[in-house]
Amino acid sequence: MTEYENRIKSVLGGIVHPETGEDIVSSGIVEHITANGQDAVITLAFRKRRDPFANSIKRQVTAAVTEAFPELAGKIAVTEKEEAPAPPVKEKVSSTAGIRHILAIASGKGGVGKSTVTANLAVTLRDMGYSVGILDADIYGPSMPKMFGVEGYTPQAILRDEQEYILPAETGGTKIASTGFFMATTALKQLLHQTLWEGLDYLLIDLPPGTGDVHLSVVGEVKVNGAIVVSTPQQVAVADVRRGVNMFRAEGIDVPVLGIIENMAWFTPAELPNNRYYLFGKGGARNMARTEGIDFLGDIPIVQSVMEGGENGTPAVSIHPEVKKYYREIADKIVEKLEKTDR
Ligand code: ADP
Repeated sequence: MTEYENRIKSVLGGIVHPETGEDIVSSGIVEHITANGQDAVITLAFRKRRDPFANSIKRQVTAAVTEAFPELAGKIAVTEKEEAPAPPVKEKVSSTAGIRHILAIASGKGGVGKSTVTANLAVTLRDMGYSVGILDADIYGPSMPKMFGVEGYTPQAILRDEQEYILPAETGGTKIASTGFFMATTALKQLLHQTLWEGLDYLLIDLPPGTGDVHLSVVGEVKVNGAIVVSTPQQVAVADVRRGVNMFRAEGIDVPVLGIIENMAWFTPAELPNNRYYLFGKGGARNMARTEGIDFLGDIPIVQSVMEGGENGTPAVSIHPEVKKYYREIADKIVEKLEKTDR
């Protein structure tokens, strides 16, 4: 800085920013001075964008320098340093964007086998060649970690394209995100939108039993392509199903109910392979489907290995050919319905 420029600087030291009470030199607003006897360029850098005092300070600078250095009159340029343009705000993209079909699995009551059906249906679809994920939204009793043997899984966050994602647990090709990994209701939205699903053909959402906040929050967050309701044949379960179906059909929710699955429909003891015992009554859900005008997707008997499969981390369809057959029929119906609406 030349002697001349230094003298200008000390003159500017007498100008105070009204808001901060500090002079514009020591507070760093005077960023640069280039001057000789012919002209002067003074660059000011205000701390905030569109500082309301900028114009008045610029005028004061011109006036003070003109007064102290009359030879510069009319030759003083006071410029304002342009702020670096703010980086464009990247809009957060939900990780559900690449998912072709989102299915909600619901039930009127707890204990009817909703989670078991979700797990086995997921494996069936995967065996049919689809990429499948499960979002365990049953915040009151998340059971997917146990059903797939990934209880100890601690979700990791990774950064991709400057966005944070949650890595789902993965077992046999099925991706699983469970509230059981977090045990917090607020984690649900995060699991939905931030799990690294990487595009899926099907995302199965295991809802809590009944109707409630979680259902509303899920259908409010993503477009659910279809709801599947699981029920046992008992009359009481059927009544609860009706409530669930009505919820999906309610105005403003409008999730198509793809159909009902009747679980624990009958029992066939190994020693009497041709007998069917209807322990919970016969065809309650099937009948209800007819009276309510809902499709019946199929029934699944009570099978010991279904229960054991839920306990030991391998869904029964993987090991039990008969169970596999029942699920395959159901999955075929679901796929047909959804692929049809795709075209
Ligand atoms: P929900 O998700 O509706 O609460 P679960 O899927 O946890 O129900 O099932 C409740 C219990 O019933 C579990 O112990 C499960 O293993 C068992 N279960 C479900 N479906 C069957 C079936 N078809 N045969 C035998 N046991 C079953």
